[in-house]
Amino acid sequence: MQFQLDNPLDGLHALPHDIWDAHIHIWDIAAFSEFEKWAEIYGVQKYTGIATPDVKRTLEQRDKADKFLFAYYLPIDAFARHDTQKLLTAVKEAKEYNYAMVKMWFGPRFLDFSNANKPFAISHPDFDPVYSFIEDNGLPIDIHVADPDIWYTQKYLDVKRYRTKRKAIDEFCTVLEHHPRLKVISVHFGSLPEPENIPLLSSLLDNYSNMYIDTASTKWIVRELGRNTHEARNFIIKYQKRILFASDIDLGWGNKTEDYYATRYWAQRLFWETDVTNVALPFTDEDNDKGSTKINGLHLPTSVLKNLYWRNALHFFSN
Ligand SMILES: [Zn+2]
Repeated sequence: MQFQLDNPLDGLHALPHDIWDAHIHIWDIAAFSEFEKWAEIYGVQKYTGIATPDVKRTLEQRDKADKFLFAYYLPIDAFARHDTQKLLTAVKEAKEYNYAMVKMWFGPRFLDFSNANKPFAISHPDFDPVYSFIEDNGLPIDIHVADPDIWYTQKYLDVKRYRTKRKAIDEFCTVLEHHPRLKVISVHFGSLPEPENIPLLSSLLDNYSNMYIDTASTKWIVRELGRNTHEARNFIIKYQKRILFASDIDLGWGNKTEDYYATRYWAQRLFWETDVTNVALPFTDEDNDKGSTKINGLHLPTSVLKNLYWRNALHFFSN
């Protein structure tokens, strides 16, 4: 089997429930109709979209309000420069514009994008008033804590600047300890989808009852969870109420191929719903040091899929 754009549902059976994609980025509204067409083919009917107030307003004016909740991207340069005031202003704006959550992105390379001149930690005391303000306003957080393990052996060799992955995870835990009412989605399976990290991820979910995880991004998740499907399947069944389906699809960023949207949704659905083995991931995975990534399906029970695809997002965002 291989992905074909003219047979986009190949290998998939009936969808057990509509899908809520809890993590997409909308950089440019022009890309929305093409995206929506493909999303609907795969049964994706609702989105949590990370978008500016302008983009949010435009979509709402186009009668898309009922399809969306929005996340406000807190400025990464303000974290890099420890600009507490700018961050507080941003959270205020998120509240004012009726955002459903705030997004924080701490992939270590953000320090380079924003010319950081101070040592960074997710739990740095300079950010404490920001977390408190978010907590007091009852805004959930979408947080990118760390990057794939492999990046720490290749890109982030300057440990003093970038920190180790374990240090980033520990900083995140410190924030959760200090702010027990914060509700968080730690994206990319808590940044810990690698089989070696699953015991740590379990202990975090056991310790922090307000912590959830999502299934973005497709290649990282399919590659790593697919290395031990038995363990991954058991983990997901055990934590089935704490995991939200998400793609991390970017609308209007970079030159994407025509099949970008379809291949992400096809690959994830095939992975969660079926028991296929060794199906080629239909796009390049430059992070796979063993060559190309294959899809080895988890064949999750229907009741679990319903939680991942819809109910967990509904529950997370309704209280
Ligand atoms: Zn993202």
